[in-house]
Amino acid sequence: MLNLLTIVFKRLTTLNFQCALRRQPTSKYKSPKSSSIPTNVDILASIDIHQLKLAGIRGVILDLDNTIVSEDDRYLSPYSEAWIRQAKEMGIKFFFLSNGKRRYRVEYWSSYLDIPATSPAKKPFPNAFCKAMRYMKLTPKEVVIVGDSRHTDILGAWLVCCSSIQVASLPHPPRWWERVLGKYVQIPYPLNQKLWDFQSSNYYHSNY
Ligand SMILES: [Mg+2]
Repeated sequence: MLNLLTIVFKRLTTLNFQCALRRQPTSKYKSPKSSSIPTNVDILASIDIHQLKLAGIRGVILDLDNTIVSEDDRYLSPYSEAWIRQAKEMGIKFFFLSNGKRRYRVEYWSSYLDIPATSPAKKPFPNAFCKAMRYMKLTPKEVVIVGDSRHTDILGAWLVCCSSIQVASLPHPPRWWERVLGKYVQIPYPLNQKLWDFQSSNYYHSNY
């Protein structure tokens, strides 16, 4: 917690971060076209890939839980796989950062979608974000961070000076703190939005 407060303080006072990318003074950093990227959407697949490209985005750091698949492996975000494949064809790079501790799930999705991953990523701390950007060989202004949680994905994006897009959280059993604070950090999944079922037992065979 103290580390996070220190990082937030540094960010607020426009000091540089402790990664290769922090050499760029944050006070001078502004993505000239970042305003053209939406700040929130219902689902990943509703993000306009052409709009990302026009905004200079070349890479996406992607959350997994409740963004692509629900934490309880019951639901999938509609069309997300097709969206990712189309974005790849258009030259967008991807990296998964998940705070999830069930590594087999992250490994499955990383392998299935052919996206490198780090788990647990300890978001919103900057280290994993910086490593992902270094892996993709991209700078903060070329990367957008997409996830469902303000206190991990969106705060992390802010700390490393990336654009961010918050998606609505796929329905999942709320943890105790989400019952109290969930409305402040997550966007409820719209009732009129499609949901795809996911039969996880068919996929995670060897790990259950
Ligand atoms: Mg999430």
